[in-house]
Amino acid sequence: MAIYYSKYNFPVVVSCLYVNRQLRKKTYSDYLCIYRMPKGVRYIFFVLAYPKGRKKKYGRDSMSKRWLLILLTGIGALIGAAGLQAGRTAGLLLAGQKDAKIEEWIASNANAGSKYAYLTFDDGPSESTDEILDVLKEEKVKATFFVVGKEGKLSRRRYQRIVEEGHTLGMHSYSHDYKEIYSNVSAFSRDIKKLEKYLYQVTGVHPKVFRFPGGSSNSVAGNIKPYIQWINDQGYQYYDWNALSGDAINFRVSPQILNENILKDIHGQSPVIILMHDLAEAGHTVEALPDLIKALREQGYELRAISERTQAIHHVSIKEQNEY
Ligand SMILES: [Zn+2]
Repeated sequence: MAIYYSKYNFPVVVSCLYVNRQLRKKTYSDYLCIYRMPKGVRYIFFVLAYPKGRKKKYGRDSMSKRWLLILLTGIGALIGAAGLQAGRTAGLLLAGQKDAKIEEWIASNANAGSKYAYLTFDDGPSESTDEILDVLKEEKVKATFFVVGKEGKLSRRRYQRIVEEGHTLGMHSYSHDYKEIYSNVSAFSRDIKKLEKYLYQVTGVHPKVFRFPGGSSNSVAGNIKPYIQWINDQGYQYYDWNALSGDAINFRVSPQILNENILKDIHGQSPVIILMHDLAEAGHTVEALPDLIKALREQGYELRAISERTQAIHHVSIKEQNEY
């Protein structure tokens, strides 16, 4: 008889040894107990040869004991099999947990530097633009400016500085006049084309990214989808946001609260597109910026400027014809 010991089949082995002892004592050579456990597959066979005439020879009591023995062996085998299975399951679970831990570790390392946050400033240029650019330069951060149409030498210089310092110049409409631009798609398209042309004249750059005034979920446009269709047709990418400071709602809110508002929205998600404003009145936005950058970096975010390849955040979207 071969008995294969393993960590998990202890009950099986015990029941088999019990049978053996009984077999030896009673010399029941017609009992055959086979444990067969080849590689990977573990079966337990109890084969019972039961020749005729034994009943007489050993008597009724003896026969009952035999059946009891067989029953006990069967139960032992079942317990053994269950133990074996439980052991294997536990082993697999442990192995699984180990794998999960390793995967988690790999994922956390693979993710290092792959959580992206995008600082975006709407409605500029303004008297705050240069201060924002100074902080970004100091912190070595690239950001995105969704600008409107502002004439004058100072404004033109600010558009140019945004481009020269490696930030993304995005469009936000020339007039930012909700009533005008959202009156119909053709008025909207004229406004955006006017801004594009102007920015190209001033900076030599054709902006490719866009943000709807009020976002794609604004309540002024009514049905935004024809506007989105036009944006898509032009090959522009539009970007909404998934975190905001509320800096344009109340200019008196402290820099600390502005940052808290943003950090509350983040929840470790990536990408994070943060809406702020480049407005003369939004001095607290500039003041809050160094701490915001620090907090984002501490949370493992890499700060980037939006490009047309950046994963979009859309409040409202329409499916492309070939999208399914
Ligand atoms: Zn705006």
